[in-house]
Amino acid sequence: MSKDGHVLVAGAGPVGILNALGLARAGIPVTVLERSPGVVPSPRAMVYHWSVLDGLERLGVYDAAVARGFLKQDYTYKVHKTGEEINYGLQSLEGLVRHPTNLHLGQHVLVEVALEALAAYPHAEVLWDHKLVSLTQDGDGVTVVAQAPDGPRSLRGSWLIGADGARSAVREALGIEFEGFTWPERFVATNVRYPFEAKGFSQTTMLIDDAFGAIISKIDNSGETGLWRYTYCEDASLPEEGVLERLPRFLQEVLPDQEGFELDAHSPYRMHQRAATRFRDGRVLLAGDAAHSTNPTGGLGLTSGLFDTYVLQEALAAVIKGEAEESVLDEYARERRRVFVEVASPAASNNKRLVYHSTDPARLEQDLTELRALETDHEAVVRRLMFPKSLETRSLVGAW
Ligand SMILES: Cc1cc2nc3c(=O)[nH]c(=O)nc-3n(C[C@H](O)[C@H](O)[C@H](O)COP(=O)(O)OP(=O)(O)OC[C@H]3O[C@@H](n4cnc5c(N)ncnc54)[C@H](O)[C@@H]3O)c2cc1C
Repeated sequence: MSKDGHVLVAGAGPVGILNALGLARAGIPVTVLERSPGVVPSPRAMVYHWSVLDGLERLGVYDAAVARGFLKQDYTYKVHKTGEEINYGLQSLEGLVRHPTNLHLGQHVLVEVALEALAAYPHAEVLWDHKLVSLTQDGDGVTVVAQAPDGPRSLRGSWLIGADGARSAVREALGIEFEGFTWPERFVATNVRYPFEAKGFSQTTMLIDDAFGAIISKIDNSGETGLWRYTYCEDASLPEEGVLERLPRFLQEVLPDQEGFELDAHSPYRMHQRAATRFRDGRVLLAGDAAHSTNPTGGLGLTSGLFDTYVLQEALAAVIKGEAEESVLDEYARERRRVFVEVASPAASNNKRLVYHSTDPARLEQDLTELRALETDHEAVVRRLMFPKSLETRSLVGAW
């Protein structure tokens, strides 16, 4: 027999921990299994679009997250070859939405903030160094086996959320296909210190170029310059171990000089546009990168994962408490897959094309004409800035 209403979560990334937090806040006992010994600090998400901030507020972590990161409004598209800059900002959403700002902070810091909140709930636990290796399910529960420091450990819950990232062991154990493709390029995400603002950069610059395209964005206000993310793209056939040797070539081309430049961290990534063919299998639900994976241009990956989280933990808690039919979980699975496949993934591919692969001059001119309108046309700015809201699924249990 399963422990009644107990939820297991695989993965202590942002999606796993925030799902656990939502469940714990609803009084549901929850156990998170994480294969690493602690929060994974690799340089990944750092931009949280304005549209996800209401959800962080509902989960009670908005203030602490803002205190550890910062809110900002500016955006710049810059054409590397001509130096043309197009500027616009979230000021256009003031008076229209509750949070007309984006939040910037490292993804691992968001996880730390959520873990601090989770610690207030004695019925929630996180088991570090627990790698899920297999699972079985029956009519009333799920049994997982984890590799733990003392050997294999079996745990049982009524439900399992697979939030164990793009290479999800949960998804694989269920034999669910991860449909889509892998890009031929490698993204290199670097965390750097450099006086970008003193050198005239805005807090988010999308640098358009088919060789030196980059996203340059401020992560936090630490130190004299703040920590910044500089993400560029290279051919994945180049040897991965040569990334650091090739990095100066990109920087020399883009930065006015190297004075004050410091590399804090770097990580190469392969990128995908993939979605699990189904997000629910019986008592197992997939969320975040375990369910869908996108290239990160435009910051739609965790945005999608957060929108999964906001509806999933709430719907599952309602099912466990007998306040909603199980069919609401099918709705979760159907709707979140549809939004990713039809909206998030094509938009992310288009963002990648514009920033890193604008090789066709006529197409670039067409894109720039649309972008230039953002400097003078308030309605065009609002339409563009409302896009991340279209990735949201409204509460499936009518709570908001
Ligand atoms: C360079 C880069 C920049 C990005 N920037 C942004 C951005 O600005 N905005 C945005 O919205 N998105 C961004 N993304 C995407 C974002 O990082 C992901 O969407 C996000 O990490 C997904 O969170 P998750 O919790 O679903 O998965 P993950 O963060 O991958 O977490 C999964 C967790 O599961 C654990 N795990 C894995 N296997 C097992 C197992 N078998 N058992 C137990 N635990 C396991 C892992 O150790 C990990 O802790 C970026 C991605 C990259 C690569």
